[in-house]
Amino acid sequence: MANINDFNFAGLKALVRVDFNVPLDEKGNITDDTRIRGAVPTLKKIIKDGGSLILMSHMGKPKGKINPKLSLGQIANAVASALARPVKFAPDCAKAQKAAADLQPGEVLLLENLRFYPEEEGKPVGIDKTDPIYDEAKKRMKESQAEFAKTLADYADVYVNDAFGTAHRRHASTAVVADYFDDDHKMLGYLMEKEVEAIDNVLKNAQHPFTAIIGGSKVSSKLAVIKNLLDKVDNLIIGGGMGFTFIKAQGGHIGNSLHEDELMPEALAVMEAAKEKGVKLSLSVETVCANEFSNDAERQTVDIFNIPDGWEGMDAGQRSLDIWKEIILSSKTILWNGPVGVFEFENFAHGTGEIAKFVAEATKNGAYSLVGGGDSVAAVNKFGLADQVSYVSTGGGAMLEAIEGKILPGVAAIKH
Ligand code: AMP
Repeated sequence: MANINDFNFAGLKALVRVDFNVPLDEKGNITDDTRIRGAVPTLKKIIKDGGSLILMSHMGKPKGKINPKLSLGQIANAVASALARPVKFAPDCAKAQKAAADLQPGEVLLLENLRFYPEEEGKPVGIDKTDPIYDEAKKRMKESQAEFAKTLADYADVYVNDAFGTAHRRHASTAVVADYFDDDHKMLGYLMEKEVEAIDNVLKNAQHPFTAIIGGSKVSSKLAVIKNLLDKVDNLIIGGGMGFTFIKAQGGHIGNSLHEDELMPEALAVMEAAKEKGVKLSLSVETVCANEFSNDAERQTVDIFNIPDGWEGMDAGQRSLDIWKEIILSSKTILWNGPVGVFEFENFAHGTGEIAKFVAEATKNGAYSLVGGGDSVAAVNKFGLADQVSYVSTGGGAMLEAIEGKILPGVAAIKH
């Protein structure tokens, strides 16, 4: 694999997979341009060297069909202003041969949404997995995916992947395309490098004590993450909606709180494994509960094992926060994924805000902190603390899969 910093792009056409899947309002205006800004260092380096850019991305889930509402044409101007230069637009990503061939050094070409072609994701469209022809259709789709990837690869001399948000997918533009470039002509972009380094910092080079804070709604979505972390962390804080499955599994009375009965045996197994591995598992001990799922509900703070009937746990209580504060402030490495309450409701956001503050304070005292996963990123942003943690990951799903211990196809395609 080549290294972007050492590579000289002069006179070369670079095919760059970016993540321009930015949120748009009904009028097609960008409501958050973080992802565009995230790609700028890589794009500027290529232009500064005297290379030209062929930018490719997905937007939304058009499921293999053209959908004007998900056209990347809508964001071409925003990309142009981020790069301070004109951006040409190729309205069909698989028919951009001439536009790509005509590109001069310093010029930028943005391809239309890759997912307008089913080949990008490589999954047969409109055929159910249970259908007997599914396997054959999938095989054929993989062949056309390889052709589609080759079409993209033929536009350029060098391939750069800077789209961490889709690195956990083996799509044409994120992984398959890399097969058509030799090792010296494919590389990770700066954003990808930073993401991979941040994950390595916590999973491979962690300073101890290492604390993971896992919150959010469901145990089922994070069980694999929790299991993998048990081999790495000293402290595991489990908060938010997912904590109630652990409380109920131990015989607690959780009222109407969110929980997954079928996962209670797994929750007990996690507790047992933590004990065996010497991991301090810290569940919430006190919760702020509500008599309905609403910001304006009545509130009361109760022992987490004794939530009254008709009430549900919505936020971490002060006693939980005091315990967690001590754990977090004594940590050298912190990984945070998922809120510890329904932080979207102002009246139940306190606990998550406090966690954000503790992580920021620990970071100030020298700890390395990685915050990732859509909602915890939204939380550090909401409390204005994003610049006070060591790294905020841009890719929720990709980060979770990396923490589960999976090899990300987008990284593996380049770094092998
Ligand atoms: P996840 O996507 O699994 O990280 O979950 C994030 C969601 O979990 C957020 O929308 C929170 O509102 C929700 N959440 C956190 N704590 C609770 C809780 N105690 N009850 C219900 N939902 C919760």
